[in-house]
Amino acid sequence: MRYASLGSGSKGNATLIAEGDTTVLVDCGFAAREAIARMERLAFDPASLRAVLVTHEHGDHGKGVRALCRKLNIPAYMSAGTAIGLKSRQEPHVRIIDATSTFQLGSIEVQPVIVPHDARETCQFVFSAGGARLGLLTDLGHITPFIAQCYQNLDALILEANHDPVMLAEGPYPASLKRRVGGDFGHLSNEQSADLLRQMDLDRLQQVVIAHISEQNNDPARARTVLAAAMPGHEHKLRISTQEAGFDWCQVQTRIEDPA
Ligand SMILES: [Zn+2]
Ligand SMILES: [Zn+2]
Repeated sequence: MRYASLGSGSKGNATLIAEGDTTVLVDCGFAAREAIARMERLAFDPASLRAVLVTHEHGDHGKGVRALCRKLNIPAYMSAGTAIGLKSRQEPHVRIIDATSTFQLGSIEVQPVIVPHDARETCQFVFSAGGARLGLLTDLGHITPFIAQCYQNLDALILEANHDPVMLAEGPYPASLKRRVGGDFGHLSNEQSADLLRQMDLDRLQQVVIAHISEQNNDPARARTVLAAAMPGHEHKLRISTQEAGFDWCQVQTRIEDPA
């Protein structure tokens, strides 16, 4: 399995997940034309995209979904709540998923995970393909025990580290927005993300991509320092995803099971 980002942050998110001849895009928070240009930048032919998966209706995830799906004539998979949020419930490209059930898209198994965020029915995803497991986890206000359990035994993880609490408190956002971002249905702070990493099997985890970093309320170096402290001896596995560049293709190595 391999994956890449078209860009990550409050101005737009989109992530490619690929295994064999199946490639899906998670979210399209860019205008369709911009998303296509960014896919081509990653040497990926948009015409071979199989589907878009949508985590939730916020503009930085859903803005370009309808136009991209129409242009490429592909379906968009999303929860019923997200379809309502996007005013797309009746549109022909939309496929409603059961957010509590795993489903298959070509060579990729998709496990939706419902997360606490201020949208109607936000799902993040764990992907299994080619003997490896990749977790994508952004846009949530806190880690529930259920989420921590779903994101166990991963080979790679794309993880939100949205804000530094002090920078958020002292930053330019109005008080209501500060409460929203830092609240239980907002976004993960660097420390909250580090807490999840402390619960994970770091020997198995090959890569951790730090994503959805706030340009106003965080600093990539600060995020990296806090997350690195949660994974002593594994700090070299950290990468940063940026708003402009996203990140280039990463290959997840298929795990060889130890003989019993
Ligand atoms: Zn977002
Ligand atoms: Zn959101």
